[in-house]
Amino acid sequence: MDIVLYPDPRLRAKNKAVDSFDESLAKTVRDMFDLMYSQQGVGLAAPQVGLNIKLLVFNATGNADDNESEIVLCNPVIKSKSKDKELAEEGCLSFPEILGNVMRHQSIVIEAQNLQGKTFELELEEWQARIFQHENDHIDGMLFIDRMTPASKALIKNDLLLMREEYGADANS
Ligand SMILES: [Zn+2]
Repeated sequence: MDIVLYPDPRLRAKNKAVDSFDESLAKTVRDMFDLMYSQQGVGLAAPQVGLNIKLLVFNATGNADDNESEIVLCNPVIKSKSKDKELAEEGCLSFPEILGNVMRHQSIVIEAQNLQGKTFELELEEWQARIFQHENDHIDGMLFIDRMTPASKALIKNDLLLMREEYGADANS
């Protein structure tokens, strides 16, 4: 399993609902967490590992030993979001070393299914809410560069251009 980098089309593709809650899904989730921790990430969505399904994982602590803080969401749906929003800096494993400011809802209520397919509701706040919104965007084929402030977007314009050039060079080699 490898991280898919921008502008790989799998990051923009449509994602299918998770419909079999089996051993293979559990294995995929474990591999995603391991890969995420190895890259010092706090969240990872399935399209970022080339799987176009509605699955995301995160651990706001980023600590591989803190399994209690691991959250797995299959087929997440946003039920409500706070009116209050906050601006903060984000990164993304599909955009190594690129950072930018993104506005996010301060808190959010979601409904999702767990690894066994059981539906549950969850309220997330602050940092956890931010990570969820970032990863959930991936599920919708949306990327943090789409939501960055114009000032941040201007600062990373050249980095994005380089990534597109590098991707094109790899594709043609
Ligand atoms: Zn991301």
